Amino acid sequence: MSVQQQMSLAGRRALVTGSSRGIGRAIALALAEFGADVMIHCASDVEKAEAARRDIEALGVRAGLTVADVADPDSAAKIRDDALAALGGVDILVLNASVQIRRRWTDITPDECRRQLDVNLSGSLWLIQAFAPDMQQRRWGRILTIGSVQQLRPHPDMAVYAASKSALVNLVRNLARQLAPDGVTVNNLAPGVIATDRNEEALVDKAYCRQVLAKIPAGYVGQPNDCAAMAALLAGDAGRYITGQDILVDGGMALP
Ligand code: NAP
Repeated sequence: MSVQQQMSLAGRRALVTGSSRGIGRAIALALAEFGADVMIHCASDVEKAEAARRDIEALGVRAGLTVADVADPDSAAKIRDDALAALGGVDILVLNASVQIRRRWTDITPDECRRQLDVNLSGSLWLIQAFAPDMQQRRWGRILTIGSVQQLRPHPDMAVYAASKSALVNLVRNLARQLAPDGVTVNNLAPGVIATDRNEEALVDKAYCRQVLAKIPAGYVGQPNDCAAMAALLAGDAGRYITGQDILVDGGMALP
């Protein structure tokens, strides 16, 4: 098989959580560009999610849409049912949805702490529980969690968010070893600073933006497609021998 053939996702079915916008949307579109059918997912912004679904369909593949709060353990069964109805199953699971609350660790409330752990860590586990057994049975699967450069460079005002992402990597390492014999890879993609809705407001502050850029050896803020390209590689046969890895897409930000 040529490398070009290995990159093809034709006939594969993907679910990308939090794909109504930002990095998740870019990953969903990239997977569709390589031929995968794609299930779009969001928490509440159905209008944006529906637009993403239409953009996927315009690429000539099948597309579905599911709306659910991943923090709710019952959501995993609903998302699975929706994906089965729309695509017949999921071969590529991208766990991208997250909540990020900016507050000093001294002031963070129990609800804010719980919410970030429920969405970012537990929500990912519930979905892996829902989808991995079918992947194992088919002896082909890809699970990709989306972490953060904050695993290695935690922001002082995002201690719980950063910790939730580090915990995700630990889960990835654990499951990668257990699922590898069944042809299922499990990896984490850790973005650096990427231009999306969540940091738009902070980055328009010129002084703050200069501070951020000073920490990025590449000297610029990344775009969602910088993450999407790596996700597409990991999602196909091209990624079959890569598992248990934490892959930084951060312009060098995590370098010592
Ligand atoms: P974003 O623009 O804030 O979009 C978040 C997406 O997640 C939306 O689709 C949102 O749905 C969904 N979502 C949020 N909470 C959810 C919940 N409880 N249940 C289900 N879906 C939920 O995010 P982003 O900036 O693209 O970030 C994507 C991923 O990259 C996240 O895991 C983030 O932690 C990570 N990351 C981002 C950066 C960055 O600089 N942007 C840096 C490091 C890591 P709705 O549209 O319905 O709200």
